Amino acid sequence: MKDFTQNLEAAKAALSHLDLEEREAAITAASRDFFWYSPVLKPRLDHLRADFVVRPRNEAEVIEVLKTCYDYDIPVTTRGAGTGNYGQAMPMRGGCVMHLRHMNQVLSCTPGRVVAQPGCLLKDLDAHCKTHSGHELRMVSSTWVTATIGGFIAGGSGGVGSVTWGSLRDLGNILRLRVVTMEAAPRVLEFTGEALARVSHAYGTNGIITEVEMPTAPAYDWVDVLVKAKDFGVAMTLADDLANEDGILLKLASVFEAPTAKSFFKRVAPYVDEDDHLLALMVAPQGMDGFLTYLGRQEGAEMIYRSDAHSWARGPGLIFEYGWNHTTLRALKVDPSITYLQIRYGFPKHKALVEKMRAAFPKGEVIQHLEAIRAGGKVGFAGLSMVRFTTEARLEEIIRIHEDAGALIFNPHRYTLEEGGRQHTDDAQLNFKREADPKGLLNPGKMIAFDDPYWTYDTMYAYPDMRPPS
Ligand code: FAD
Repeated sequence: MKDFTQNLEAAKAALSHLDLEEREAAITAASRDFFWYSPVLKPRLDHLRADFVVRPRNEAEVIEVLKTCYDYDIPVTTRGAGTGNYGQAMPMRGGCVMHLRHMNQVLSCTPGRVVAQPGCLLKDLDAHCKTHSGHELRMVSSTWVTATIGGFIAGGSGGVGSVTWGSLRDLGNILRLRVVTMEAAPRVLEFTGEALARVSHAYGTNGIITEVEMPTAPAYDWVDVLVKAKDFGVAMTLADDLANEDGILLKLASVFEAPTAKSFFKRVAPYVDEDDHLLALMVAPQGMDGFLTYLGRQEGAEMIYRSDAHSWARGPGLIFEYGWNHTTLRALKVDPSITYLQIRYGFPKHKALVEKMRAAFPKGEVIQHLEAIRAGGKVGFAGLSMVRFTTEARLEEIIRIHEDAGALIFNPHRYTLEEGGRQHTDDAQLNFKREADPKGLLNPGKMIAFDDPYWTYDTMYAYPDMRPPS
């Protein structure tokens, strides 16, 4: 890797007619994402900082930034809103952070599809779609309020809506991406079909998404529902059954093992006991009757809240902000020793596997948090188990115990694509990176296969060109 530091002033001068940020505090803020969420990543990435931030206003300016930085060998790490929690947006070698906040326009929207710029916030995109087409995105990150659609596609995987629609990687959940390469003469490419896999969930390592076309689904005034149960199996089965009820449309089915609700959900705590497990649901209004009929048949479950008719002095707020990665965020605000794992409990053994893992650890060390998710047409669980962190060695052991039992782990304590995924080279992403980013300047350090094709995954990868702490 070439040292670029002596080129910084010339590059900044060449880009000075753009929205260039050189204030120290603003650069520091734009250089950080939610990596600190992980006690493993926090000490390793805390010192990282870009040298400058540039905010292009359109695709032509993106091309200009990429071409200039290519000429001066300056690494470019793209930023949507910086809510990624595996250090996806951390500038490992410093250089340029390209912040896409100005590229926030919705370009067209009809029932069924929407075309937008990547810096559009998920909540703004949904609001626009709802007004103009009566539709909304099929699935969103629980960071809907703050995250961008480009960052969701490049750094996320699924979330609120995945109970019905599966994950972003499932066929049909992304329609088209427009992508700019980082070459001497950057190219603008349009990807559909098989080619989408090259850049989706690639952390901006092999091309910059400048336009997205996404499928949408009818928008509803979803009813947020909370149900409590003394028996964890009852809560888990409720989520599984409801996600399988063909006539009841859901956008969320989350299960929180006790004492999560009492200990970590401040506004819910007055309505639950220490030993109550909690189920959070988003139900389409026309599905409420079917839901209540189903609930009436169950023993040991009680609805404590519905957003369309409740007497709580202070409502819980957006219910999905209790689910997905928000659960851990709420927990670690109360207990900083909490971290989490991302686990896939696949159908048909998902419930049995969860019970097995519940029994595998000392009480309180691993607290179950499940999200019902559809995969290949079958409902299983994404587990975002909360873990009381003691040491990295113990965390590794907990991961091994899950894997040995047959649960798939997506390690949220790694900053590389491979280690956060299935620990193998994604040839589509790698081959496209070689073509689209020949100097390896796009979000360096995040794709092991590009840096070190012979890496064996025996230990945690440490990017050798990471900027050292000053
Ligand atoms: P950023 O963090 O800015 O970027 C993410 C990655 O994409 C980075 O590698 C960045 O370089 C790259 N990137 C950004 N824009 C582009 C572009 N235009 N072209 C190419 N590359 C680009 N994730 C989920 O999937 N589901 C969830 O439910 C979820 N819940 C979360 C809850 C909390 C509390 C937190 C902290 C995180 C959660 N996340 C979740 C992770 C993250 O918030 C989402 O993936 C989010 O959508 C990322 O969007 P962003 O705009 O913040 O992206």
